[in-house]
Amino acid sequence: MRKLLQRPRRLRRSAALRNLVRETNVTAHDFVLPLFVSEKINKQQPIASMPGVFQFSLKEIVDEARRAQDLGLQAILLFGIPKKKDEQASGAYVEDGVVQQALRAIKQKCPELVTITDVCLCEYMSHGHCGVTRIDGDHFHVLNDETVELLVKTALSHAAAGADMVAPSDMMDGRIGAIREALDNNDLPETGIMSYAAKFASVFYGPFREAAESPPQFGDRRSYQMDCANAEEALREVALDINEGADIVMVKPALPYLDILWRVREGFGKPTAVYHVSGEYAMIKAGVEKGFFDERATVLEIMTSLKRAGADIIITYWARELAEWARG
Ligand SMILES: [Zn+2]
Repeated sequence: MRKLLQRPRRLRRSAALRNLVRETNVTAHDFVLPLFVSEKINKQQPIASMPGVFQFSLKEIVDEARRAQDLGLQAILLFGIPKKKDEQASGAYVEDGVVQQALRAIKQKCPELVTITDVCLCEYMSHGHCGVTRIDGDHFHVLNDETVELLVKTALSHAAAGADMVAPSDMMDGRIGAIREALDNNDLPETGIMSYAAKFASVFYGPFREAAESPPQFGDRRSYQMDCANAEEALREVALDINEGADIVMVKPALPYLDILWRVREGFGKPTAVYHVSGEYAMIKAGVEKGFFDERATVLEIMTSLKRAGADIIITYWARELAEWARG
């Protein structure tokens, strides 16, 4: 028998030894909980394709935010579902919009909780696209600069209502710079921007569109969200957003894009977020329901992988459970 000098298994012999050499640990502080607040309901509604995820009424959302904080979470990402939609997404930037109302109430009860708001127009547009559209015969266009103007109004209105950070998720060109400039010019220099910098057009968003009631009524989002085949382009997108003033950059979805996450974190050294999206969530939930996976072990493995691949911040529908599971 050959004498081995190196036996890596020596450090795997017991749980205590493995803990000593563990390189990546997840804690409650890594996670952001997405919350959906709807103006259309009085009582929480389950989302069929995402078991365990609910839309909350304006009355309930404060308690839900408080509950998240009590569990040890530090941040929420707020999505709004308005009563009425139109072609200018006016519900997104009115002073008494659903997100604006929710923010004021949450900030009053939980001033320490970091409130991040999704800044997009799709939930507020009657056609469900993330921007202003123009239809020419069979073709439709999502107009970039016209959309950016509305995104700026939305971001300003969220910031004025108390958002600590705005998170534009639309993928229009130039919106980070425009929002940064508007915040600064309106005496809101402290409001941060978490940019959905590399957001890919993905089949994994399906269940979210039920949650946010935002499926496009025609066409798809490929003229603004990125092609899943492109990594170099993702890096260019991230560089643009950083140059325009993004404080945090995000990669979305998560598991199929670990290479992008790694390259973004390594290449730019900026706080980097990843969004573990609805389809990724639904897939695991279905597997758990069928008895294929143990939920806790599966989710902890996925979240550890995301952090190992460079994520500083993980947005996940399991944030509540993880706050507990991560305690061990
Ligand atoms: Zn959108």
